[in-house]
This record gives sequence, C-alpha cells and structure tokens, in this order.
Amino acid sequence: MLSHISKGLLMVIPHHCSLGSPSLPCLSVLGQHRESPSSCHLMMNCLRPHFKYSRLLMHLGTGEQLHEYPIGKGKALQFIYGSKQVITKGGILATTATTNLYRRSRYKEGMKDIQSQCCSPDEVVFGPDFHQSLYCHLLCGLIYSDEVHQVFSTFAHSLVHAFQTFEEVWEDLCADIRDGVLSKKVTVPSIREAVTKILKPNPELAESIHRKCIGLSNWYGVIPALWPNAKYVYGIMTGSMEPYLKKLRHYAGHLPLISADYGASEGWIGANINPTLPPEQVTYAVHPQTGYFEFIPLEKPKGQELENSASIHYIESDPVGLTEVKIGKIYEVVITTFGGLYRYRLGDIVKVAGFHNSTPELQFICRRSLVLSINIDKNTEKDLQLAVEEAGKLLEAEKLEIVDFTSFVEKSSDPGRYVIFWELSSDASEDVLRSCANCLDLAFVDAGYVGSRKIRTIGPLELRILKKGTFEEILDYFLSLGGAVSQFKTPRFVNPLNIKVLQILSRNTTKSYFSTAYGL
Ligand code: AMP
Repeated sequence: MLSHISKGLLMVIPHHCSLGSPSLPCLSVLGQHRESPSSCHLMMNCLRPHFKYSRLLMHLGTGEQLHEYPIGKGKALQFIYGSKQVITKGGILATTATTNLYRRSRYKEGMKDIQSQCCSPDEVVFGPDFHQSLYCHLLCGLIYSDEVHQVFSTFAHSLVHAFQTFEEVWEDLCADIRDGVLSKKVTVPSIREAVTKILKPNPELAESIHRKCIGLSNWYGVIPALWPNAKYVYGIMTGSMEPYLKKLRHYAGHLPLISADYGASEGWIGANINPTLPPEQVTYAVHPQTGYFEFIPLEKPKGQELENSASIHYIESDPVGLTEVKIGKIYEVVITTFGGLYRYRLGDIVKVAGFHNSTPELQFICRRSLVLSINIDKNTEKDLQLAVEEAGKLLEAEKLEIVDFTSFVEKSSDPGRYVIFWELSSDASEDVLRSCANCLDLAFVDAGYVGSRKIRTIGPLELRILKKGTFEEILDYFLSLGGAVSQFKTPRFVNPLNIKVLQILSRNTTKSYFSTAYGL
C-alpha cells in the first residue's frame, strides 16, 4: 500500500488505530526509499512543534527573536492551498501534510490568537482550482490591506509565483474592488459565494491600488507599497528555494525576508531562532522533542576536501546522536518519530553551524540525491544551482532573469550530455545565450565532470530555452496528480521515466545552444 503514497503525502489514521495495529502501514527503515507513512501521532508531530513551538514562538516573542518584528492586531496575507484528500484501498485518509495542518481547527484558532489569521475564507484555501484560489488570495489580501501584518507562504516559490501573477492580474483585481463584483474568471461556486460576501464596492481603495501600481518601477517593493503595515515576508527560503530569493527581495523592497523553519511531512526538524539573519545565513535549532534524531557523518574522500560541500560522493560512518555532532561537520539527518518512522533517512544534507544550548543548529546544504551524473561525474542540485547562478549573471546586463530552471541527462546519444532548461523573463540575444551555455558548462567544477568533458566522454552541455509559462504547466501537472501547491518544489532534475514532464519541456523548447567551452 505504501508504494502508492507519494512523497509529501500524509496518511491520517483514525483515532481508534493505535501504533502496532495490523492495519498500520509497515515502517520505513534506515536506507529505504523515502516515502511518507504516518499516523495521528506523526500528524501531531508536524502540527505540534511547527505550530506551537515555531510559529507561536516566533510570533509571541518567547525568544529574543520576536521583539525584532512585533506585529499588532491584524491578519496575514497567506498564500496557502489545500490539496485533494484520497481514501486508500485500506480505508485510510491520505492527504498532504500542509492540507492536514490547514484543516485543523487548532491551527485556525492559533492563527487568530497570534494575529496571523488568513485574509481569505476557507473556500479559497481549499478551492479545487489553484489559479482561482490564488486570484482570490490576492483579492482578499487587498480588501484587508491595512490589516495585513505579514505575508506568508510555505515555500518562497509560491510567494514569487503569487506576485508574478499579480503583475498580470492587478487591473482585474482593481476592477473587482472598484465595482464590488468578482471577476467572471472565478467560476467555482463555493469560492464565488464566500468571496462575494466580503467584496463590497470600494472605488477609493481601487484607485489607491491603481495609483500605487503604476507608480512602481518594475514592481520593485510592491509588497510594502500595497500592504503598508506588513512587517516581514515569511516562508522557507533556504535550500532549493534560494534561487527565488532575488526576485522575492525585489518584490519585498525594504521588508525583511524571514526564512521559516526546517520541517518535512515526516516530522518537524528545526526552528529558525535568529530570524533577523538573511536567509542565506539561517540555521535551524533542532527540536529535540519531535522525535529521536540521529546524524550520519559524511566525509569527503581524500583529495576532494576543497570542493563545494555538495559536489562529492560522501563516505558514511555510523550514525551519531543529537549531542554528539561536531561543529563544521556535514551529516545526513535520520529521524525516528512517535508516528512510527524508524531510523528514517530524510535525504537532506546539513552542516552543524553551532549549538543552541545543547541542541545543534543546522545549516541546510541540499538534498542528498544526485541530480546529474553520466559516468564518473557527480553534481547535486546545489552544484546545478551554483552553475545557473553563475551563468545567470550574464543575463543581468540585458536586464533579464531566469524565471525557473531544471535539468536532464541526455544519454540517448553517445557521449551523453547535460541539458539545462531555462525559462526567461523575456527574450535574450543569441550571443548572450551562447555565452550562457559555455558559462554553464565551465561552472560545473566537479573533477569527474571537468575530466570527462576534456576527454569528451561527456558531450557539450546543451542549454534549452523554454516558452514563458512552461513551469506553470509543470506545476499544473503536479497538481493534477494530487500534489499541493503549498509543498511544491520545482524538480531540478527530470528523471527519464518522467515522460509527461519531459514532453512538456520538449513541446515548449524554443531554442537550443550547445557549449563550445571545451572546443567544438
Ligand atoms: P515535504 O516532503 O513536502 O514535506 O518537504 C520536506 C523537504 O523540504 C525536506 O526534507 C527538505 O528537503 C525541504 N525543506 C523543508 N524545510 C526546509 C528549509 N527550511 N530549508 C531547506 N529545505 C527545506
């Protein structure tokens, strides 16, 4: 049964099922493929530490952190979305962890208590059409604009996506607010009914939003301009979310970006206890009460010590306990939870940056899974991110941005090659894109890759440019499979078996450039 449950799904076991009940799914063991069995206990793991200790701690000022960003009586502009719930063949309710969280009455009560109640009604959060829900989140956020004290989404990706959408629909939103009539684009009856109740004609507000929008330069600082009482923008901004920081900073203007905690469907891991730090420097203090934590020490093979921490094949030693980790060392996180996961490998690589009392503070490095490999080369998602950042600098002169990116290993030709897909904010010149392909090729500094490129056992890297909206199509495909926007992370590597995503990428490719960096 477990194999039908994808990563990120949570099974909600009815209260009468106890641990050890024959109806419970088998437990995941050290070294197994990462999937997500769960129970009420695990769900509470997700809920309790995240909610009670992290967000409450963060907002109520239980540590030094909250005094930095006090919020008054108000609401939160939250881009949150529920996903489908399904009943498995065994009769168990399965849903994503975030959906489960948002459905809990305790979550909603708590959000009200900490002045972070979502502006949108539940019908918007749990609406069946993500695009309509997003439109209404923006609309409700504008209706309550003076009351909004923080802007939130689980991952930075959905924040950036929300404001990119805002750039396209802002005039429709103004019209809705001016006339007090919801756009015909919103067709889901439950969403229409709920939003219509709070939408009243307000020509002054519509006029003020219109004036502010046309006064902005390329949407810089749109968040503080339209939500003048917002104190910060909040969401997970580390790891695979780092590529969205630049765009998010642009929208946030002078507002601080606060990276939310480190957690997973399998259990909550750590809290960002120094929220004033920029997301690139954030560390997470492990919640020792979430479960039993172990850490697999990862050592770099001799001769590779100076390489980027992500770009190597690690040598593992026996797992060590929470208090036995060493500052500066790199580990993979293993968790045993009250919900029944036994020595479960999260697949995340972290570095110990220090200790908060006796609990380690972790810096998130990357997912462990290799993304790009043809023969002896090994490049992770972090290596790919760094290469894309490096090549992306060449676009700055043309005032262009990479909207999103992914990669693929083309092995059908001999020798195989890396293919990098980019969606750009606008068209770039041929010359610049050719230079970008060369720059990408040279930016993969892994010794296996460089050596293989020199002797041509790996072919020239190919940069493929995608039509605008391609990643939106990939997101829609992910949602059609029952995924949740709140947990969406752009796949940085497309597996050859993922035919559907490859079809989307190939259908939308407009141009292709081969690197000449190692000769023709
Ligand atoms: P999910 O499977 O949707 O619950 O996502 C959990 C995964 O998201 C974790 O195992 C990490 O890889 C990633 N993640 C969660 N929180 C953070 C964070 N604060 N920084 C970086 N990555 C994170």
